[in-house]
Amino acid sequence: MKTETSDYYITEIKKLKAEKNAIILAHFYQTGDIQDISDFVGDSLALSQKAAANSADIIVFAGVKFMAETAKILAPEKKVLLPDINAGCSLADSCKADDFKKFLKANPGRTVVTYVNTSAEIKALSDIICTSSNAVQIVQSLPPDEKIIFAPDRNLGNYVLNKTGRDIVIWNGTCHVHEEFSLEAIINMKKENPDAKIIVHPECELPVRMVADFIGSTSALLNFTRKDNAKTYIVATEAGIIHQMKKANPLKNYLPAPPRDSTCGCSECSFMKLITLEKIYNCLLNEKPEILLDEDLLIKAQKPIRRMMEISEKLGL
Ligand code: SF4
Repeated sequence: MKTETSDYYITEIKKLKAEKNAIILAHFYQTGDIQDISDFVGDSLALSQKAAANSADIIVFAGVKFMAETAKILAPEKKVLLPDINAGCSLADSCKADDFKKFLKANPGRTVVTYVNTSAEIKALSDIICTSSNAVQIVQSLPPDEKIIFAPDRNLGNYVLNKTGRDIVIWNGTCHVHEEFSLEAIINMKKENPDAKIIVHPECELPVRMVADFIGSTSALLNFTRKDNAKTYIVATEAGIIHQMKKANPLKNYLPAPPRDSTCGCSECSFMKLITLEKIYNCLLNEKPEILLDEDLLIKAQKPIRRMMEISEKLGL
């Protein structure tokens, strides 16, 4: 809901963006007001592509830290700002560099495919990065007999393994939003809305994926609701995506899939929701917090991300 204060921030943010040649890149899991003032809204793959190709001097990343780091890695000459430096990610935090080095040592001779939801240190230890939009295709692009490590999301890793049948060892990490959806509550919701289609992100657990009418990344889920002819959807991913679904098809109904704990509001990512209009304004005004990475780390992390982008481009993703 717009207030006088939010109107003030929206006006000032627009002025500062023009003065400083800045752009705002926002993830689909941001609140609607932030999505609406952003220059580009997308999932991790689209945001990486946008960060790598734009003429701005400053990128304000309305998302979480690993995303802003990815933007910095792909556009090191630009100033990359994250409005709240505490906007982390439970999934990225589940994979620390020291533990991951031990895991790699225990599983030698495997190609390391890592989800973009990781720190720059983990990316630097990887052979190739993927997002939920291209994880299956990235793995399929590797030679059939290549042995693979997939990290850090065990549910996405399990989904990729089932889809590709490859020899994959999976790191045991999860996202606090996607693992919380309740199969029982989803089934009850479906009973109350028998015509609804259940659409599910691959970071969800297997039992939830098994009842899905469609599984896909946030942008794939959005595209599905755009083209599909159902009137109601039960949406098992972070509820922020519903803003774009409503914009595309305002007459349809979108029901956020319920979490196990109905009192916790767990279908919203607490890290994503740390970003506010006020913080975006302050960060543009003061040009901080800025993402700074050690040059050696940046160069090492760039290689596997570029490899993903080249494959995605070849495949038209
Ligand atoms: S929704 Fe999950 S994976 Fe995405 S940023 Fe939040 S904690 Fe990380």
